[in-house]
Amino acid sequence: MQKKEVEMELFNTYPTKIPNLCGVNNPDDMAIYTAQEGRCFECHKPVQFFSASDERPEGYTVEHVFPSSLGFGLYGNKVLSCLTCNRRKAQKLPSKQYLGAVQDLYRKVFPKPAIDAMRSVRHPVWAGRCGGRGANGALRMAH
Ligand SMILES: [Zn+2]
Repeated sequence: MQKKEVEMELFNTYPTKIPNLCGVNNPDDMAIYTAQEGRCFECHKPVQFFSASDERPEGYTVEHVFPSSLGFGLYGNKVLSCLTCNRRKAQKLPSKQYLGAVQDLYRKVFPKPAIDAMRSVRHPVWAGRCGGRGANGALRMAH
């Protein structure tokens, strides 16, 4: 399968036109920051609660779990990272282990109806779709 086809497959599985599910907005950054105990999602280094920049790198960045460059919106698809980890991840797809950690985080910050709704529409975080097709045609995890 060509890279472009994989990207379209990912895009088509995600309801980017739905701003929220069950009338539940994406948790705000403070809710996620609190659930992450003020640490980077990936390296667990403490981050400050303001947007990081080159001048103030000790802040946080909003990280898309599935990259925005592939058409993924932020709903149920963001974590907070330090500037270094955000730049390292860039456009990479999440691993299975990473997705498991995202699910654990979202169990803390999303109400249950929102999680149920994400599962029902096969939101990629809960459907575990990371790209590439296995022999049985099922999308499989990136590593
Ligand atoms: Zn980090």
